[in-house]
Amino acid sequence: MDHDIVIIGAGPAGLSFARILADTGMNILLIEKQSEKILAKPSYDGREIALTHLSHKIMSQTGMWDRIDDKNISLIKDAKVLDGNLENPLFFDHQKSGKENLGFMISNHHIRRAAYEVTKPYKNVKIMTDVEVLNVETKAVSGTVALKSGKKISAKLIVAADSRFSATRRMMGIPTAMQDFGRTCVVCKVKLDRDHDNTAYECFFYDRTLAVLPLKGRYCSVVITIATKDAHLVLDQTPQEFGQEITKRMEGRFGKMTLDTELFPYPLVGTYADKFYANRYALIGDAAVGMHPVTAHGFNFGLRGAYTLASEIKAAYELGLDFGAEDVLLRYHTTHCQTTLPMYLGTNALVGLYTKSTPLAKMARRTLLSIGKYFPPARRIIMNQLTEAAS
Ligand SMILES: Cc1cc2nc3c(=O)[nH]c(=O)nc-3n(C[C@H](O)[C@H](O)[C@H](O)COP(=O)(O)OP(=O)(O)OC[C@H]3O[C@@H](n4cnc5c(N)ncnc54)[C@H](O)[C@@H]3O)c2cc1C
Repeated sequence: MDHDIVIIGAGPAGLSFARILADTGMNILLIEKQSEKILAKPSYDGREIALTHLSHKIMSQTGMWDRIDDKNISLIKDAKVLDGNLENPLFFDHQKSGKENLGFMISNHHIRRAAYEVTKPYKNVKIMTDVEVLNVETKAVSGTVALKSGKKISAKLIVAADSRFSATRRMMGIPTAMQDFGRTCVVCKVKLDRDHDNTAYECFFYDRTLAVLPLKGRYCSVVITIATKDAHLVLDQTPQEFGQEITKRMEGRFGKMTLDTELFPYPLVGTYADKFYANRYALIGDAAVGMHPVTAHGFNFGLRGAYTLASEIKAAYELGLDFGAEDVLLRYHTTHCQTTLPMYLGTNALVGLYTKSTPLAKMARRTLLSIGKYFPPARRIIMNQLTEAAS
């Protein structure tokens, strides 16, 4: 047997999983088709990741948090959800969450770099770059990955963190629910004239949704979700037109808003694997659950799933048991499913509701906001779900 575990994909989930297990001394191989240069210095991709308290905890335990300069960590103190216009928002107050802030914001490229930096020094974790996995096969006690070069590598367990469109998931015969929202998310960084008070805004307009998320200083991350057929209306704007429109939509509350980066489009497809494992094979990260970004849970779930699977593996390994056995993988599947399925279905239902502009959908939206506004227990449940503060 070549390795204890082979991980396919050194995205943030694959790297975090490798790092969480690195202390066990297990012999781990991480295979990534991108170059080492990209892993060591990923470029800015427009994604500013909203992180929960649980993610903060896991990233602190793994040393990832310390690798990110304070100037690149922003706080979300409060959040406002608005329907149709900016009046009368549903307000999430950090003071009612029992925490000093609802969450954190860190750029995806900083997270990826930090995950690489804390994993690389471990001698028992080898990172193979510029290498693509073409095939996966598993037998009773081992699995084998076949590389593009023709080389085959075996391990007691194969873990796939190879994105929401995971090719190996299909090879292993795991059916996956896919929802193409027919929408595109356009993200960028914007400079403000006035303070944002560390408040996040989620505005559900009738033609698009607009999230304005606070970044350090007078900057924010802007996330526009729009029907893909209309995405050109945003992407073809000049920086001046974009700034003017966003300033107008936010009714001047941040003064003049100026585009600070290019615009990054991401087509939106939600995915949920029927099972997070097969024989000697497990799925983590987006390969297990590919969330719509509106509830900002993709990487938070990726990290949480990596931690859950690693904990089950560690427990078995330390007892000298077979860590790739079905009962170990089933426990991971059950726990991760319980955590993610309600949020996955809830997010998709929310997206459906806020994409329609029929009178019925508008009424349902207003009712939903009112429940959140005037029924504090409901607001608390939503807040706990979104921040993972209680986990
Ligand atoms: C616009 C937007 C905003 C978002 N905002 C948030 C947010 O606020 N909060 C949050 O928690 N999440 C957010 N997310 C989600 C988050 O970005 C993803 O969940 C996360 O990046 C997924 O990481 P991953 O490692 O699972 O997959 P990926 O980042 O897709 O990595 C997969 C890796 O596998 C490699 N790979 C694939 N196939 C192979 C192969 N055959 N052989 C070798 N290597 C392979 C790829 O090269 C890649 O490096 C957002 C996403 C988007 C698009």
